[in-house]
Amino acid sequence: MRKKRKQKKKVLQQKKKRILKVKKRKKTILLKFIEECKQKLLKKYEELSNLQKSSADILFEEKGDEADIADSVLGREMTQELSDTQRKILDLITLALEKINKGTYGICENCGKIIEKKRLSILPWVRYCVKCQNNIEK
Ligand SMILES: [Zn+2]
Repeated sequence: MRKKRKQKKKVLQQKKKRILKVKKRKKTILLKFIEECKQKLLKKYEELSNLQKSSADILFEEKGDEADIADSVLGREMTQELSDTQRKILDLITLALEKINKGTYGICENCGKIIEKKRLSILPWVRYCVKCQNNIEK
């Protein structure tokens, strides 16, 4: 009787150990995933900052003759539009990097649920899960 109980305890301990191991492995995978997202965020950040810099250079160099004016106005408008989106993404990237530091990365800001990994690997700077994003956009 006593032996049986001891055995049961042992089995339970082994089970606990196994669960702990799985949890640890899951954590490692998650950390790896977050690291991947971080690299993507940094890369995009650099890309956008470079773009922003070069479009500023273009604006600075623009002083061609009359025939070019229409083109450059159009060009400027396009640059402006692009910059707005760029700036928005840059802000979101900064926010996401802050969240990685705080350990809250990948959590939907609206409902507190974990954002789908697939979504994060495509858009690592998103703040909401698909469901909340759809609600916000409506
Ligand atoms: Zn959500």
